[in-house]
Amino acid sequence: MMIEVVDLTKSYGPIRALRGISFNVAPGEIVGLLGPNGAGKSTAMKILTGYLQPDDGIVKVDGLDVLTHRREIQARLGYLPENAPLYPEMTVQAYLLMMANLREIPPEEHLLYLSRAVYASGLADRLTQPIGQLSKGFRQRVGLAQAILHQPKLLILDEPTIGLDPTQIVEVRQLIRRLAPQSTILFSSHILSEVEAVCDRVIIIINGQVKADARLDELAATSDAVLVLQAKTDGVEQALKSLAGVTEVEPISVPDGHPAYRVHGAEEDNLCPAIYNLARRENWPVRELRRDVRTLETVFNELATAISNEEIEEEIVEEEMAMEEAQS
Ligand code: ATP
Repeated sequence: MMIEVVDLTKSYGPIRALRGISFNVAPGEIVGLLGPNGAGKSTAMKILTGYLQPDDGIVKVDGLDVLTHRREIQARLGYLPENAPLYPEMTVQAYLLMMANLREIPPEEHLLYLSRAVYASGLADRLTQPIGQLSKGFRQRVGLAQAILHQPKLLILDEPTIGLDPTQIVEVRQLIRRLAPQSTILFSSHILSEVEAVCDRVIIIINGQVKADARLDELAATSDAVLVLQAKTDGVEQALKSLAGVTEVEPISVPDGHPAYRVHGAEEDNLCPAIYNLARRENWPVRELRRDVRTLETVFNELATAISNEEIEEEIVEEEMAMEEAQS
């Protein structure tokens, strides 16, 4: 495994930023760490890169423990922090040369390494410009160039497209994709479409916990079917519920106002053929019958809503306990 994280916890005083997260990343994977603001993504990345100590848990990069092999790990990885510390008065070239020295790349190899990174990040015509005079998109490219300079096995990119305009976002995504064949990439984002565009796999972190870890196609897969009728028909819900494999039938609203139902199944089976046969037998005025494919956005919203409900319930329980204590 390129990354192994087991039961990782981290608190900042009373704030429990990571509440026991576990995940693995295999060599060559592009994995998106997705979560709302404050979910714990940056904290996890800072621990992986050795900039922050974990409270508890096991964290290994390329088989090495972050607690005991910080330097070796840092030599193997490239890191684009959330706020890349760039030096505004330095030219792009001087900055990358400084980074090459810090990375202990032998001087005779500087030209080779620099030109590779500069070419990959599209910086060739900006080399002599001071970093402070670059647009945000180009500064982000400088950050990426320093992260890939020493050809690391692992790239950790914290919100690489934040604050960029749509064209720059597309360029940075393409750059990440171009880098992919040589590296394992873990990058964070709170933009669902971005993760969908770039990653093979997504790990959803909400409130310091891993709430989903799956390939994108697996996450969106569902056995649900959606049935839309031309007109209101009696007994539909009941009849659907009696079908083998159906666990729940939920009336839903569709844009044109026709009667519609989402039919949940227990297995990964396709329920549509059975629903089709039933509808023909019963002479239902079927307008549409399809398998329901969830977008990552639906999954994410479902998870986020479930979490906020859980939190509200926790708060109620805590309040009740406090009241009971006060009364006794
Ligand atoms: P964002 O997308 O906003 O960057 P994130 O998922 O990266 O969020 P973190 O930055 O890891 O989340 O923050 C997790 C939690 O820890 C948040 O509640 C945050 O306020 C808190 N936190 C982060 N860094 C510190 C710190 N240095 N001191 C105190 N609290 C912190």
